[in-house]
Amino acid sequence: MDHISPTSSTLERWLAGPRIPALPAPRDMAPPKLSFEFFPPKNEAMEKSLWECIRRLESLAPRFVSVTYGAGGTTRSRPHATVSKIVAETSLTPAAHLTTVGATKEEVHEVAREYWAAGVRHIVALRGDPPVGAHEYTPHPGGYAQAEDLVRGLRDVADFEIIVGAYPETHPTAVSADADIDYLKRKIDAGATSAITQYFFDTDIYLRFIDRCLAAGITAPIIPGILPVTNFAQVSKFSAMCGASVPGWMGELFEGIDGDATTRQMVAAMVAAEQVRLLQANGVDEFHIYTLNRPDLAYAVAHLLGARAKPAGVAGA
Ligand SMILES: Cc1cc2nc3c(=O)[nH]c(=O)nc-3n(C[C@H](O)[C@H](O)[C@H](O)COP(=O)(O)OP(=O)(O)OC[C@H]3O[C@@H](n4cnc5c(N)ncnc54)[C@H](O)[C@@H]3O)c2cc1C
Repeated sequence: MDHISPTSSTLERWLAGPRIPALPAPRDMAPPKLSFEFFPPKNEAMEKSLWECIRRLESLAPRFVSVTYGAGGTTRSRPHATVSKIVAETSLTPAAHLTTVGATKEEVHEVAREYWAAGVRHIVALRGDPPVGAHEYTPHPGGYAQAEDLVRGLRDVADFEIIVGAYPETHPTAVSADADIDYLKRKIDAGATSAITQYFFDTDIYLRFIDRCLAAGITAPIIPGILPVTNFAQVSKFSAMCGASVPGWMGELFEGIDGDATTRQMVAAMVAAEQVRLLQANGVDEFHIYTLNRPDLAYAVAHLLGARAKPAGVAGA
């Protein structure tokens, strides 16, 4: 697979896309294009469950899988080990996240060169967050100040396909929603070919965001990031930090089932599948699922949407 993102015809499909009836998905309708996100394991037990997750989702032949880079940029070896093993031992196409945090430009280039040497051709280029407790992001004195510069720098390192982050509800530090979209355009103009969004729960938020991106002249695909939620309290806390809103209806759906993990799983699958179906109904045909290294929900959502396991070794379309 040369490209992990669709061409601008995604936008045409979005504008004039199919209108989706209730489940089950019509048999002649192609399942959506999927990608999955993992985080690198911190110990042996996590390593084992990550690989069970990767193997299970590999059977769905996703377009790509991405591996996050530790907050603070401190854990360079863990993502590298995971991504290299994905290249060496699976049929999957990995996209390695890379941040600018706490590193000089040359150090970032070195990580990128190591990825290229390991066979990685796709990078999710991010600025990264300030360390816990710090309010403002302070770049390393010899480092990149923002993702736009990182994208430009990576272009000089190797011919990576570069993906950037996008914020349907506006990045918490943006001056305004319009400025945030202008800045996304700058990242694309600097050489990124697509973006993945921060997760969101109300479909309208993404659709309105795409409208504003189109109006601002952004034609690159903006892949919606989907987070299936099982732990409502945890997600509410995290969302407050990253600027994603948690709608009241979601709180109501999880009311009274804190101690009932099985029901929470079912509700989570239903909510995520419904969200993706609503987006499909608006012509969106590609989704990035945040797996949190747990395969069941991502697998269930994909299955509901018509994705079926392929024989081992079959790569994504
Ligand atoms: C899909 C996705 C994956 C992620 N993966 C990771 C990961 O693996 N590891 C990790 O640590 N974090 C990750 N993050 C979190 C990310 O690092 C944070 O959201 C961080 O605060 C911003 O990163 P960025 O690349 O979007 O930054 P940037 O795009 O550089 O900047 C963030 C915002 O600041 C404003 N801004 C910055 N520079 C300018 C400028 N010159 N002019 C005007 N406005 C400006 C813009 O509003 C912009 O949206 C991920 C986020 C997303 C959406």
